[in-house]
Amino acid sequence: QHAGAFGDQLDSLTATLAGTDSPQLAPQLQDVLSGVMKMRGSVDVLQQEFKASKDEINRLRLDLDRARSEAFVDPLTGVLNRRGFDQKLQRMVAQPASADSQGCLVMLDIDHFKNVNDTHGHLIGDKVLQALGEVLRNTVADPAHVAARFGGEEFAIVMPEATVVQATALAEAVRNRTRAMRIRQRGSNEVLLTVTLSGGVTALKPGDDEQALIARADAALYRAKRSGRDRVTVE
Ligand code: GH3
Ligand code: MG
Ligand code: MG
Repeated sequence: QHAGAFGDQLDSLTATLAGTDSPQLAPQLQDVLSGVMKMRGSVDVLQQEFKASKDEINRLRLDLDRARSEAFVDPLTGVLNRRGFDQKLQRMVAQPASADSQGCLVMLDIDHFKNVNDTHGHLIGDKVLQALGEVLRNTVADPAHVAARFGGEEFAIVMPEATVVQATALAEAVRNRTRAMRIRQRGSNEVLLTVTLSGGVTALKPGDDEQALIARADAALYRAKRSGRDRVTVE
């Protein structure tokens, strides 16, 4: 803008001088003027390049945001992956304890899932995992709570602000919706299979680290398995 304004000033100066009797100055002013015009052109080009770079940076920033959030999501089920789970659990363990809501961890494991793969194949097994992911995304509705795929056919719900009663109710809701799922044959719509789920619930205690919390939820899950599966056990 300054280069442009300066060029305009020179333009009007040249016009003024053309009307006066200063023949020795006019050619020199013409040189300066054409120098300024060139500079103005270069500044325009620079400005366009600068704008293109800015657009590119904004695009890359969006790509980066997307990649960052995708890095925490399990592509098959659409819930958080193990990395996302670890991060959420770490945050919950680090949170200051409060009197009425201490934070809870729910561990879930599909019952006899190996049989599903053995009987129907891994692709159908994957469909079951996908469907369970949908159940979790729909059932874990409170944005403070997050569902994650812990690994394989094991899932977890991290609930930073919840009582054991609330966590158990949510685990039961997931369990009931899971046993109501019907995996159908594409085309014929014939029901191929149903699955059940076992769960373990535990609450955060003072002095807990992530491992201690997972170990307790796992112990509760193991008891649910041992006492007949398709149930939720509280530690
Ligand atoms: P339990 O009731 O004791 O949990 O029995 P289970 O058969 O579910 O447990 P087990 O640990 O014996 O088997 C888990 C199976 O989960 C074995 C493995 O092949 C399957 N699995 C893990 N990840 C995936 C996956 O991404 N896709 C499919 N299709 N299967 C998976
Ligand atoms: Mg299992
Ligand atoms: Mg398992």
